[in-house]
Amino acid sequence: MKKYDYLIVGAGLFGSIFAYEAKKRGKKVLVIEKRNHFGGNKYTTEIAGINVQYYGAHNIHTSKKEIWDYINQFAEFNNFINSPMANYNGQMYNLPFNMNTFSKLWNISKPEEAKRIIEEQKKKYQIKEPKNLEEQAISLVGYDVYEKLIKGYTEKQWGKSCDQLPPFIIKRLPVRFIYDNNYFNDIYQGIPKGGYTKIVKRMLAGIEVILNADYFAKQKKYDGLAKKILYTGAIDQFFNYEEGVLEYRSLEFEHQTLNKENFQGNAVINYTDFKTPYTRIIEHKHFEFKKSDNTVITYEYPKEWNKNLEPYYPINDDRNQEIYNKYYLRAKQLTTHIFGGRLAEYKYYDMDDIIEKALDLVAKELRESNLKEEENK
Ligand code: FAD
Ligand code: UDP
Repeated sequence: MKKYDYLIVGAGLFGSIFAYEAKKRGKKVLVIEKRNHFGGNKYTTEIAGINVQYYGAHNIHTSKKEIWDYINQFAEFNNFINSPMANYNGQMYNLPFNMNTFSKLWNISKPEEAKRIIEEQKKKYQIKEPKNLEEQAISLVGYDVYEKLIKGYTEKQWGKSCDQLPPFIIKRLPVRFIYDNNYFNDIYQGIPKGGYTKIVKRMLAGIEVILNADYFAKQKKYDGLAKKILYTGAIDQFFNYEEGVLEYRSLEFEHQTLNKENFQGNAVINYTDFKTPYTRIIEHKHFEFKKSDNTVITYEYPKEWNKNLEPYYPINDDRNQEIYNKYYLRAKQLTTHIFGGRLAEYKYYDMDDIIEKALDLVAKELRESNLKEEENK
């Protein structure tokens, strides 16, 4: 007899939702996490009285009411609207690309004027079907926006030139011909009051969690503990990189406490030139409209990934996708393990995607396991 129904590798959002839902349905669950805390990349901790999103700014956003309602059962959300600014060589522009951006850039006021300029700039490049991020960006917003607000940021962020990157990355950002700085098109968004860690703490309440536990350090022992294992780490590592090493982008975060009330006047400022080594500075207090004499800021530096660094972003180009497809087929054949999350599925998922995917997987998994139990009776 195995001690647990499920061993869950990784206490990020995916693993925590799966654990919560499985426990709720009477399953015995163990969670192991290699870091010294749970929450994965949306871990929040308090520094100098301010909730600090330790691995970068996270804004949950969705248009699906069921996803919003689901996450709201674990925390109360504030009404923060993400409206980052871009700093290009000292000049400030609104994001995402909207009439505020265009009017500052071209000294115009009307949507038709912006559309006309973008069309003229696009024409020069004669792009029919965009094949890479550069072509996609120019098709959407023209050359000036590409040059000042996209090219430098993107090449720092991904460590590749824009013509080597897939178009879908830039389509994450809205382009609007109205004066609206909301970074997302979704109906619902916000920041959980008290930080994201509180959400995961609630999900994992009453569940056994072992921190500082790397699955691969004792894989045989861990596999022996549970009837089934949900793995949310990097998929290529699970298969010992046998089909090839997938590429990731890593990050480094530098947190500073400053003895001033307001450092940059906004939660997120992107540095869109290539020379500045960081991509963004986050000032955490602005996410929560916090009043205090001090402030905490975080510099986000993109980094070349290697096996000793955290794999923050999958790089979903054709080469990596081909490798991933091989791992996917191998993973599907296993009856002892299931896979989910940003790293195990090698997809640029946001948190709303993760909630949806985790709920789907746990429902499917428990349906099948209950059927099996019925058959064995
Ligand atoms: P993770 O949070 O990565 O959790 C996986 C966990 O597994 C980690 O804790 C890891 O330590 C653990 N693990 C891995 N391998 C092992 C092992 N061998 N043994 C034990 N444990 C292991 N999404 C949004 O919706 N809005 C945003 O604004 C947003 N901003 C982001 C900003 C940044 C800088 C980054 C990197 C991501 C952002 N995201 C955002 C995406 C969001 O972080 C992810 O969608 C979500 O955290 C993925 O959850 P997950 O559980 O799949 O992965
Ligand atoms: N991007 C950009 N300039 C910006 C912000 C974003 O060119 O000021 C591009 C960049 O390629 C980035 C992508 O848009 O990787 C998606 O941005 P998003 O803010 O969604 O990235 P994330 O928060 O996931 O890092």
